[in-house]
Amino acid sequence: MLIVMKQGADERQVEHVCRVVQEMGLAPHPIPGKLRTAIGITGNVGPVDPSGLTALPGVLEVIRVTKPFKLTSREMKPEDTIVEVGGVRIGGPEIVVIAGPCSVEAREPIARAAKELKARGAHLLRGGAFKPRTSPYTFQGLGLEGLKLLADARAQSGLPIVSEVMATEDVPQVEEHVDILQIGARNMQNAPLLKRVGKARKPVLLKRGMAATLEEFLLAAEYVMAEGNRQVILCERGIRTFADHSRFTLDLSIVPELKRLTHLPVIVDPSHAAGRRDIVIPLARAAIAVGADGVMVEVHPDPARAQSDGAQALTLAMFEELMDELRLIVPAVRRGSVAAR
Ligand code: PEP
Ligand code: MN
Repeated sequence: MLIVMKQGADERQVEHVCRVVQEMGLAPHPIPGKLRTAIGITGNVGPVDPSGLTALPGVLEVIRVTKPFKLTSREMKPEDTIVEVGGVRIGGPEIVVIAGPCSVEAREPIARAAKELKARGAHLLRGGAFKPRTSPYTFQGLGLEGLKLLADARAQSGLPIVSEVMATEDVPQVEEHVDILQIGARNMQNAPLLKRVGKARKPVLLKRGMAATLEEFLLAAEYVMAEGNRQVILCERGIRTFADHSRFTLDLSIVPELKRLTHLPVIVDPSHAAGRRDIVIPLARAAIAVGADGVMVEVHPDPARAQSDGAQALTLAMFEELMDELRLIVPAVRRGSVAAR
């Protein structure tokens, strides 16, 4: 349920409504808006009798939220959520490009990648320190050391950083080093981890599970938001289908549907969907054309020597080509510029 406050309602009235909701055994979630505050209500299993709430001072109306996802829903918050990190706004009019290697491998390559990507217009740097590899015998990431190298690369390049956290107990150290906590596709339904990052003070980039429906994806985001963290970015990264010409099938049709149903920013990762570098650029173009707020791509200065996902890594020259193409597409979809060259 959603309580919409009148335009002039003051803080005291909002607090009073929240108290009454708590006394009903439910959880209030104030959502400040440009014109008025709304208060989302969660915790009810069945319908709630709205009559006691409609009469409270400052209340304009009480609306039943029909979707199972609540805090993520546009019904609750019609305005787009904009996640801001280090001066970069994700979910606003500007298209955002996150780029970097699959894994942080050593000091020199990540520092070099950061510098070269910044020079080519990337907005954020990615790089995994904790890697959810399919085989236990492959490179598992540098862990804490990788986070430090990534933070050093940020200091030198000025690019905010995104890195995956796989385990609940690692959240404090990952949170301390990165600007955005990534939850990987394999962990999209790891409820304890979702709840823990919901308590973090850093934004969360949540990747869609490879077999998750739209509703399951939004309910995963709901886990994070219900704990208080409203800074969630959704990322489509390909789903498992019978198609075997690419690693996963990039489900671009989810992008406009997510934009319709949720106020959260939506980005697309064409790299993990493709699994091969030659189709990453066309998929990235399509992602922006279909309405995504940005893309996340894997780039490696020397893909042949990458410790993970080398086959899908763009070279620096290809990344430059991608940025040139996005500069053509972005105005065509009436979005803000991808940084000028
Ligand atoms: C990644 O971004 O490096 C990654 C492992 O992605 P996903 O969780 O989508 O497989
Ligand atoms: Mn990868």
